[in-house]
Amino acid sequence: MADLIAHEAPRKFWARPEQYLLDAGKDGELLIAKIRVALTFVLLLVPLADIISAANEGREQHFIGFFVTASACLLSVGIYFLVVSDRRQRWLPLATSLFDVSFITLTLVLYGLLVGPVVLTNNRLSFDTYFLALGGTCLRYDKRVALVAGLAAIAQWVASVVFILIYSGAAALAVDEFYGRFAWSDLISRVILLATATALNVFIVSGIQQQRKLSTADALTGAYNRRFLDDFLRNELARAMRHKTALAIAMIDVDHFKQFNDTHGHGAGDRALRQVAQTLELAVRRTDLVARYGGEEFVVVLPDSSAEQAIAKMNAIREAIENEPLMLAWKDGRSAPAKLTVSIGVASWDEDRGQSASEFVAEADARLYEAKKSGRNKVVGPSPIGNEVVV
Ligand code: GH3
Ligand code: MG
Ligand code: MG
Repeated sequence: MADLIAHEAPRKFWARPEQYLLDAGKDGELLIAKIRVALTFVLLLVPLADIISAANEGREQHFIGFFVTASACLLSVGIYFLVVSDRRQRWLPLATSLFDVSFITLTLVLYGLLVGPVVLTNNRLSFDTYFLALGGTCLRYDKRVALVAGLAAIAQWVASVVFILIYSGAAALAVDEFYGRFAWSDLISRVILLATATALNVFIVSGIQQQRKLSTADALTGAYNRRFLDDFLRNELARAMRHKTALAIAMIDVDHFKQFNDTHGHGAGDRALRQVAQTLELAVRRTDLVARYGGEEFVVVLPDSSAEQAIAKMNAIREAIENEPLMLAWKDGRSAPAKLTVSIGVASWDEDRGQSASEFVAEADARLYEAKKSGRNKVVGPSPIGNEVVV
C-alpha cells in the first residue's frame, strides 16, 4: 500500500474523489446506514434478554451492555436520517466509518473491563466485526476513508489491549478456561490481518475509481462522455429543483473546424480538440463538469452558477482559446501557430419554467446557433430580462 501511495504521489492519493464517485458512495452509505440500524436493533435484544433472565448479581453488567447498545442504536437512527437528508456532507463517510470502528473498540473494551481482560484480547466474534466495518468502507468509493478507518482500527485495537494489560495487571495473564491465555503473537497476527484488510480495501477502491474513470471518459480528449453527461445533468437538475439553487450549462463548438481539418490534417484536428478540452478543464471549478458532446462540441455544466457568472466564465474561456493557438510542427522542424476560436451558447435553469434536461441543452444549443449566426468567436446567453446577451 505504501507503494500505491508513493507511486500515486501523496497529493493525488489524498485528493477528494470526483463528485460522481462521492454521489455513488452515498448509495453505499445509505445501505450501510440501514444495516447499522438493523444490526444495533438486533444486538439490543441480547442484553435485554439477559436482563430479563439474569439473576440479580449479573444485572449490572447487562444494564451497561443495554445502555451502550441502545445509545448505538439511537446514533444509528440519527446517522440514517443524516444520510437520507440529501445534503452533501463531505465529512459523513469518514465520520460514519470511524463511528463503526470506534463502536467495536468500545464494545471490546467494555467486555474486557466487565467480563475479563482475555475476553478483549482473545475474543473472536467481536474482533471479526472490524473486518465487516472495514469492508463497508469500500462502498464509500473513497480510498482515503478506507485507509484512515483501517489505521484507526489498528491504533484503537493496540491501544485498548495495552490499556487492558496495564489496567488488569497480573490478572490479564491468567488462563481463562474458555478464551485461553493472552499472547503477544496473537496481538501481532491480528494487527497484520487488520493491516492486510486495509491494504486490500485501498486497492479495491483505487481499482473501482480507475474503472469508473475509464467508463465515463471520452477516449480522445479525456473529458467525460455523453452518457455520463446525461446522468450528471439529470442529477444536477433534480438537485437544483429540490434545493432551489442555480444551475447553468454552456455548449461550446469549435469554429470552422472542418476547414481546420482540411488545412492542417486530422491529426492536428485531434490535438486541437485535446487542447480545447484541457483549456476547459483548467478553467472550470472542481464541481463543474466538462463533457464532449460529440465531434467538436463540448458541454460544460456549472452547478450553483447564475447566467451572469457562467457568461463571464465562458467569455474568459473563449478569449483563452483565441489567444492560445495550437503550435503545429512542420516536417523541416519549424513550427507554426494555427488559430482556433469557439462559439458558446449559455443557458441557465429557470425554476419557474422547470425545463427538462433535453430542453435545457436545446436552449444552450439554440444560443450557440445565435453565436454562430452573429459572426462566431462569441458567447450568447440569457440576460436577466430574457433578451439574449452577446459578448
Ligand atoms: P462551424 O463554425 O459552423 O461550427 O463549422 P464547422 O466546420 O466547425 O462545423 P461542421 O459541423 O461543418 O464540421 C465539424 C467538423 O468536425 C467535421 C469533422 O470532420 C470534424 N470532427 C468531428 N469529430 C472529430 C474528431 O474526433 N477529430 C477531428 N480531427 N475532427 C473531427
Ligand atoms: Mg458542430
Ligand atoms: Mg464547429
